[in-house]
Amino acid sequence: MRIDIATLFPEMCETVLSESIIGRARRAGKLEIHCHNIRDYTKDKHRRVDDTPYGGGKGMLMQTEPIYNCYQAVCEMIGEKPHVIYMSPKGTPFSQKRAGELKALANIFILCGHYEGVDQRVLDEIVDEEISIGDYVLTGGELGALVVADAVGRLCPGVLSEEVCFTEESHYDGLLEYPQYTRPPVWHDREVPPVLISGHHANIQKWQREQSLEETAKKRPDLLKNAMQQGKLDKKEMVRAQQLLEGIEER
Ligand code: SAM
Repeated sequence: MRIDIATLFPEMCETVLSESIIGRARRAGKLEIHCHNIRDYTKDKHRRVDDTPYGGGKGMLMQTEPIYNCYQAVCEMIGEKPHVIYMSPKGTPFSQKRAGELKALANIFILCGHYEGVDQRVLDEIVDEEISIGDYVLTGGELGALVVADAVGRLCPGVLSEEVCFTEESHYDGLLEYPQYTRPPVWHDREVPPVLISGHHANIQKWQREQSLEETAKKRPDLLKNAMQQGKLDKKEMVRAQQLLEGIEER
């Protein structure tokens, strides 16, 4: 898969995307990510990319033309129209489910706004979807684009060592992950749950599933209710989930 990020701060994105798992995957050719400086696409002799908004108001807006030229250049590079995402506090909240859907696309172009945002006309012209990373306002779309690139990128084949690395994680099947432990077996008088060192695989799996239900009930009861409604739990788990939720409501 290929991800193109259009930004006024390509170094900020490159720095993050060159590190750790995503950086390694890029160097190994498992994932292609390119960061483009929108300023390289302005024809203004002072490399200006913003102007004051019509109708007044504070701050500056990103202009249509540099963004459109950057998008056109990427279309030419890849030989097709990519799926275009605009990072925006007005967008649909990002989720693991959406990350999984985006992973299936061959090309994604992520536009990062700055200042007060972007002239609406270029958004109307090229954007397929607006994504928000939460109900708060950031100074720019870069942090959001990095969140999307990381969450989507790590699902691509060969980026993580095994698929089970993400299929057993929080949010993949609608629940939160069970607690995990590593050496030493006792730390500050706190013991690792004995079942985990029993070597009994079936019991370990049973314990992990129960812990996953408990963790979700405690920290995100909304997710547990969704999982119940969406038929993601078997009969026994439905009964247990109901007990856990009732326990929480009684407290
Ligand atoms: N004036 C805009 C508004 O009120 O909706 C906010 C502009 S914000 C200061 C500048 C840029 O940051 C936006 O164009 C967008 O790309 C990005 N941004 C801000 N908050 C975001 C969020 N929660 N999720 C994704 N992108 C965000």
